[in-house]
Amino acid sequence: MLHRTRAEQVLEIYENFVEKFPDFKSVCEAGQETIEKEMESLGLRWRARNLHKLACEIESRHGGAVPKNKNDLLELPGIGNYISSAFLCFSKNIPEPLLDTNTVRIIGRLFDLEISDSSRRKKDFETVMRKILEFGDCRHLSLSMIDFGEAVCRASDPLCHECPLKLSCNFYRRC
Ligand code: SF4
Repeated sequence: MLHRTRAEQVLEIYENFVEKFPDFKSVCEAGQETIEKEMESLGLRWRARNLHKLACEIESRHGGAVPKNKNDLLELPGIGNYISSAFLCFSKNIPEPLLDTNTVRIIGRLFDLEISDSSRRKKDFETVMRKILEFGDCRHLSLSMIDFGEAVCRASDPLCHECPLKLSCNFYRRC
């Protein structure tokens, strides 16, 4: 639901949705059209269709419980590398590297790796992120990095002078 939509706009729709459809069974039984209607105001018809398909698949193949294994997750409709990692990290606290705009930017700047649209799929970024996850629990580290990327290591005008990592940062050294 957060796809290109601000959290404040989504909150009420999300809360109503989970109240009406508390599990995968209820999403599946509601039918595709109903789910599309529920998410209509977010302009996410394709995602609503995927969600319905996903719910039915989890219900029929996994007895209504989301699998905890990366390969099983990747076989589900609409689930790619990022969503499967996010699920394992945030929900199960399993150390799966989460590479998004923020974590890629921080890693790229700190370690002088070239940042591009494909960075989140690159092995060197994944290797660094896996190393970082050895220092604490996945959930807290990943959320902290996302917040740090929003508040300090911002895309434009990063707050380098106030940054606790500046002495180890390649980007800062070059400024
Ligand atoms: S010093 Fe600047 S570029 Fe480096 S991590 Fe901190 S905020 Fe980001």
